[in-house]
Amino acid sequence: MTRRNLLATAPLWTARPAALEVKRWSIVTIGNLSRNRYWGEPDTKALRGAICTCTLISGDGFELLVDPSLSGRDEMAKELDRRAGLKLSDISAVFVTHEHGDHFAGIEHFDRAAWYAAAPVAEILNATKRLTRVLAPAPQTLLGAVEVNPTPGHTRSHHSLMFRGGGRGIVAAGDAVATLDFWRERRSYFNAVDPLEAARTMARLADAADIVIPGHDNYFLV
Ligand SMILES: [Zn+2]
Repeated sequence: MTRRNLLATAPLWTARPAALEVKRWSIVTIGNLSRNRYWGEPDTKALRGAICTCTLISGDGFELLVDPSLSGRDEMAKELDRRAGLKLSDISAVFVTHEHGDHFAGIEHFDRAAWYAAAPVAEILNATKRLTRVLAPAPQTLLGAVEVNPTPGHTRSHHSLMFRGGGRGIVAAGDAVATLDFWRERRSYFNAVDPLEAARTMARLADAADIVIPGHDNYFLV
């Protein structure tokens, strides 16, 4: 069996649903793309800086920040306070979905937190030596409440987080889903390494989740 087939058949939920219920989840920053074809913009040129969607998942004894988005320390601190009443030092863990710079632009602000990425992402980023600390390879179930699942297509190593909140299945997709418009057409962003694989990943997420938090947009219902 090829690696692709293994990924395509791997279950998205492996732990018992009750074990995955988190206390609260909040969008800290709603992301945007540098260019958006659904706004009539060409894929060939960046028209603005990209900011990714950054999500806080609060659970039993942890505050997990997914894709720390803002490179400015004061700006990141302000958004975290505004959206969740937390300080930078309150974040106990950070997870990075993939190796693109906008998805870890603010990671250095969280020097007290554990830094995680799925093993292939950690390997890529650690080899660049761009970060002051190494990312630890995340286990399949992170912090006892969040599942780390391969969602290839945008990049080969891309991983998303799945968890339950309010009885619903939620995926913090990262760039496996760019925005709601891209999702509706099962279209990947222009820089995807494998658009067909990305479309398959989106189809799997549509079956597995009730709510999608995309990489560069507000969350939406499936
Ligand atoms: Zn990306």
